[in-house]
Amino acid sequence: MNKPKILIVEDDLAVSNLIATTMETQDYLFQKAKNGAEAIMEALSYRPDVMILDLGLPDMDGVEIIKKVRGWSNMPIIVVSARTEDSDKVEALDEGADDYLTKPFSVDELLARLRVALRRVRFDSGKGSQEELIYQNGELQIDYSAGVAFRGGEEIHLTPIEYRLLCLLAKNTGKVLTYNYILKEVWGSTLASDTPSLRVFMATLRKKIEPVPSEPRYIQTHIGVGYRMLRQG
Ligand code: CA
Repeated sequence: MNKPKILIVEDDLAVSNLIATTMETQDYLFQKAKNGAEAIMEALSYRPDVMILDLGLPDMDGVEIIKKVRGWSNMPIIVVSARTEDSDKVEALDEGADDYLTKPFSVDELLARLRVALRRVRFDSGKGSQEELIYQNGELQIDYSAGVAFRGGEEIHLTPIEYRLLCLLAKNTGKVLTYNYILKEVWGSTLASDTPSLRVFMATLRKKIEPVPSEPRYIQTHIGVGYRMLRQG
Protein backbone atom coordinates (compact mmCIF):
# COMPACT_ATOMS: atom_id res chain seq x y z
CA MET A 1 0.00 0.00 0.00
CA ASN A 2 1.11 3.55 -0.71
CA LYS A 3 1.03 6.13 2.04
CA PRO A 4 -2.28 5.71 3.88
CA LYS A 5 -4.84 8.46 3.22
CA ILE A 6 -6.80 9.53 6.25
CA LEU A 7 -9.88 11.74 6.28
CA ILE A 8 -10.23 13.71 9.52
CA VAL A 9 -13.81 14.82 10.15
CA GLU A 10 -13.84 17.11 13.17
CA ASP A 11 -15.31 20.56 13.84
CA ASP A 12 -13.16 21.21 16.91
CA LEU A 13 -10.08 22.86 15.44
CA ALA A 14 -7.76 21.91 18.33
CA VAL A 15 -8.66 18.21 18.06
CA SER A 16 -8.49 18.32 14.27
CA ASN A 17 -5.02 19.88 14.39
CA LEU A 18 -3.83 17.35 16.96
CA ILE A 19 -4.93 14.47 14.73
CA ALA A 20 -3.39 16.13 11.67
CA THR A 21 -0.05 16.61 13.44
CA THR A 22 -0.13 12.97 14.51
CA MET A 23 -0.70 11.92 10.88
CA GLU A 24 2.30 14.01 9.83
CA THR A 25 4.58 12.27 12.33
CA GLN A 26 3.61 8.93 10.75
CA ASP A 27 4.01 10.23 7.23
CA TYR A 28 0.34 9.50 6.54
CA LEU A 29 -1.53 11.66 4.04
CA PHE A 30 -4.66 13.40 5.26
CA GLN A 31 -7.51 15.76 4.43
CA LYS A 32 -9.63 17.64 6.92
CA ALA A 33 -13.38 18.17 6.88
CA LYS A 34 -15.11 20.34 9.49
CA ASN A 35 -18.73 19.34 8.88
CA GLY A 36 -20.86 16.57 7.43
CA ALA A 37 -21.24 18.06 3.97
CA GLU A 38 -17.47 18.37 3.56
CA ALA A 39 -17.02 14.86 4.96
CA ILE A 40 -19.29 13.31 2.32
CA MET A 41 -17.64 15.32 -0.45
CA GLU A 42 -14.11 14.37 0.65
CA ALA A 43 -15.07 10.73 1.18
CA LEU A 44 -16.13 10.66 -2.49
CA SER A 45 -13.37 12.75 -4.06
CA TYR A 46 -10.33 12.11 -1.83
CA ARG A 47 -11.06 8.37 -1.47
CA PRO A 48 -9.47 7.96 1.95
CA ASP A 49 -8.34 4.57 3.27
CA VAL A 50 -9.70 5.37 6.72
CA MET A 51 -12.13 7.97 8.07
CA ILE A 52 -11.79 9.40 11.58
CA LEU A 53 -15.25 10.76 12.34
CA ASP A 54 -16.36 13.02 15.16
CA LEU A 55 -19.99 12.19 15.95
CA GLY A 56 -20.98 15.69 17.05
CA LEU A 57 -20.86 17.86 13.93
CA PRO A 58 -22.62 21.20 13.38
CA ASP A 59 -24.69 20.27 10.31
CA MET A 60 -25.20 16.52 10.51
CA ASP A 61 -25.26 13.64 12.94
CA GLY A 62 -22.13 11.51 12.49
CA VAL A 63 -24.35 8.42 12.32
CA GLU A 64 -26.00 9.87 9.19
CA ILE A 65 -22.59 10.16 7.58
CA ILE A 66 -21.86 6.49 8.34
CA LYS A 67 -25.15 5.43 6.73
CA LYS A 68 -24.38 7.45 3.62
CA VAL A 69 -20.76 6.31 3.28
CA ARG A 70 -21.70 2.66 3.82
CA GLY A 71 -23.89 2.97 0.73
CA TRP A 72 -20.81 2.88 -1.46
CA SER A 73 -17.74 2.22 0.68
CA ASN A 74 -16.45 -0.35 3.13
CA MET A 75 -13.57 1.87 4.34
CA PRO A 76 -12.82 1.62 8.06
CA ILE A 77 -14.53 4.36 10.05
CA ILE A 78 -13.23 5.21 13.51
CA VAL A 79 -15.73 7.33 15.41
CA VAL A 80 -14.70 9.87 17.99
CA SER A 81 -17.15 10.87 20.69
CA ALA A 82 -17.32 12.54 24.07
CA ARG A 83 -17.86 10.24 27.05
CA THR A 84 -21.41 11.52 27.46
CA GLU A 85 -22.29 10.21 24.00
CA ASP A 86 -21.95 6.52 24.83
CA SER A 87 -25.23 5.49 23.24
CA ASP A 88 -24.27 7.38 20.06
CA LYS A 89 -21.08 5.34 19.94
CA VAL A 90 -22.98 2.05 20.08
CA GLU A 91 -25.44 3.31 17.47
CA ALA A 92 -22.51 4.31 15.23
CA LEU A 93 -21.02 0.81 15.54
CA ASP A 94 -24.39 -0.74 14.74
CA GLU A 95 -24.54 1.40 11.61
CA GLY A 96 -21.21 0.07 10.41
CA ALA A 97 -18.43 2.04 12.12
CA ASP A 98 -15.38 -0.11 12.84
CA ASP A 99 -14.06 1.32 16.04
CA TYR A 100 -14.38 4.24 18.43
CA LEU A 101 -12.27 6.60 20.48
CA THR A 102 -13.56 8.47 23.51
CA LYS A 103 -12.43 12.06 24.03
CA PRO A 104 -9.99 12.88 25.42
CA PHE A 105 -7.81 10.23 23.78
CA SER A 106 -4.05 9.89 23.62
CA VAL A 107 -2.00 9.99 20.43
CA ASP A 108 -0.83 6.42 21.12
CA GLU A 109 -4.42 5.24 21.39
CA LEU A 110 -5.32 6.92 18.12
CA LEU A 111 -2.34 5.36 16.35
CA ALA A 112 -3.11 1.90 17.73
CA ARG A 113 -6.69 2.11 16.40
CA LEU A 114 -5.43 3.35 13.04
CA ARG A 115 -2.99 0.45 12.75
CA VAL A 116 -5.84 -2.04 13.26
CA ALA A 117 -7.93 -0.23 10.63
CA LEU A 118 -5.07 -0.11 8.12
CA ARG A 119 -4.36 -3.80 8.64
CA ARG A 120 -7.95 -4.48 7.60
CA VAL A 121 -7.56 -2.28 4.50
CA ARG A 122 -4.39 -4.11 3.48
CA PHE A 123 -5.90 -7.50 4.13
CA ASP A 124 -9.13 -6.74 2.26
CA SER A 125 -7.28 -5.44 -0.79
CA GLY A 126 -5.09 -8.57 -0.98
CA LYS A 127 -7.95 -10.99 -0.48
CA GLY A 128 -8.49 -13.66 -3.10
CA SER A 129 -11.42 -16.00 -3.61
CA GLN A 130 -9.67 -18.73 -1.59
CA GLU A 131 -9.98 -16.59 1.55
CA GLU A 132 -13.73 -16.72 1.24
CA LEU A 133 -13.67 -20.48 1.80
CA ILE A 134 -10.86 -20.63 4.32
CA TYR A 135 -10.33 -18.09 7.08
CA GLN A 136 -6.79 -17.84 8.33
CA ASN A 137 -5.73 -15.60 11.19
CA GLY A 138 -2.50 -16.46 13.01
CA GLU A 139 -2.90 -20.04 14.23
CA LEU A 140 -6.64 -19.93 13.82
CA GLN A 141 -8.30 -21.39 10.76
CA ILE A 142 -11.91 -21.86 9.75
CA ASP A 143 -12.89 -24.10 6.87
CA TYR A 144 -16.29 -22.60 6.01
CA SER A 145 -17.26 -25.32 3.55
CA ALA A 146 -16.60 -28.08 6.10
CA GLY A 147 -17.89 -25.99 9.01
CA VAL A 148 -14.82 -26.77 11.09
CA ALA A 149 -12.35 -24.58 12.96
CA PHE A 150 -8.71 -25.39 13.74
CA ARG A 151 -6.01 -24.02 15.98
CA GLY A 152 -2.46 -24.78 14.93
CA GLY A 153 -3.83 -27.54 12.68
CA GLU A 154 -5.81 -29.20 15.49
CA GLU A 155 -9.56 -29.32 15.17
CA ILE A 156 -11.41 -27.25 17.77
CA HIS A 157 -14.64 -28.83 18.95
CA LEU A 158 -17.24 -26.09 18.99
CA THR A 159 -20.96 -26.14 19.68
CA PRO A 160 -23.13 -24.77 16.85
CA ILE A 161 -23.57 -21.45 18.64
CA GLU A 162 -19.87 -21.11 19.39
CA TYR A 163 -19.13 -21.82 15.74
CA ARG A 164 -21.61 -19.16 14.57
CA LEU A 165 -20.15 -16.68 17.04
CA LEU A 166 -16.63 -17.41 15.81
CA CYS A 167 -17.65 -17.07 12.14
CA LEU A 168 -19.40 -13.77 12.79
CA LEU A 169 -16.34 -12.35 14.55
CA ALA A 170 -14.02 -13.76 11.85
CA LYS A 171 -16.05 -12.27 8.99
CA ASN A 172 -15.79 -8.89 10.72
CA THR A 173 -12.14 -9.10 11.74
CA GLY A 174 -10.91 -5.67 12.83
CA LYS A 175 -14.40 -4.35 13.54
CA VAL A 176 -15.91 -3.85 16.97
CA LEU A 177 -19.25 -5.70 17.04
CA THR A 178 -21.81 -4.52 19.57
CA TYR A 179 -23.71 -6.88 21.90
CA ASN A 180 -26.91 -5.97 20.01
CA TYR A 181 -25.44 -6.82 16.66
CA ILE A 182 -24.05 -10.16 17.83
CA LEU A 183 -27.28 -11.13 19.59
CA LYS A 184 -29.27 -10.29 16.49
CA GLU A 185 -26.95 -12.16 14.10
CA VAL A 186 -26.36 -15.27 16.21
CA TRP A 187 -29.58 -15.64 18.18
CA GLY A 188 -32.00 -13.48 16.21
CA SER A 189 -32.59 -11.61 19.45
CA THR A 190 -32.25 -7.96 20.37
CA LEU A 191 -32.97 -8.31 24.06
CA ALA A 192 -30.33 -6.66 26.21
CA SER A 193 -31.26 -9.25 28.85
CA ASP A 194 -29.54 -11.86 26.67
CA THR A 195 -26.18 -10.12 27.03
CA PRO A 196 -25.13 -12.21 30.07
CA SER A 197 -25.60 -15.45 28.11
CA LEU A 198 -23.53 -13.99 25.29
CA ARG A 199 -20.74 -13.41 27.83
CA VAL A 200 -20.96 -17.04 28.92
CA PHE A 201 -20.72 -18.32 25.33
CA MET A 202 -17.85 -15.95 24.66
CA ALA A 203 -15.97 -17.26 27.71
CA THR A 204 -16.28 -20.88 26.57
CA LEU A 205 -15.33 -19.95 23.00
CA ARG A 206 -12.24 -18.18 24.28
CA LYS A 207 -11.20 -21.19 26.32
CA LYS A 208 -11.22 -23.17 23.10
CA ILE A 209 -9.48 -20.76 20.75
CA GLU A 210 -7.19 -18.61 22.87
CA PRO A 211 -3.74 -19.99 23.80
CA VAL A 212 -4.05 -18.09 27.12
CA PRO A 213 -7.77 -17.37 27.73
CA SER A 214 -7.02 -14.83 30.49
CA GLU A 215 -4.90 -12.83 28.02
CA PRO A 216 -6.96 -13.04 24.84
CA ARG A 217 -5.11 -12.32 21.60
CA TYR A 218 -7.87 -13.06 19.14
CA ILE A 219 -11.08 -11.81 20.71
CA GLN A 220 -10.83 -8.41 22.36
CA THR A 221 -13.39 -7.26 24.93
CA HIS A 222 -14.84 -3.75 24.73
CA ILE A 223 -16.47 -3.27 28.10
CA GLY A 224 -20.08 -2.12 27.82
CA VAL A 225 -19.89 -2.22 24.02
CA GLY A 226 -19.03 -5.61 22.55
CA TYR A 227 -16.20 -7.69 21.07
CA ARG A 228 -13.73 -7.64 18.22
CA MET A 229 -11.62 -10.21 16.41
CA LEU A 230 -8.10 -8.90 15.95
CA ARG A 231 -5.93 -9.83 13.00
CA GLN A 232 -2.66 -11.38 14.19
CA GLY A 233 0.73 -10.37 12.87
CA1 CA B 1 -17.69 18.02 17.57
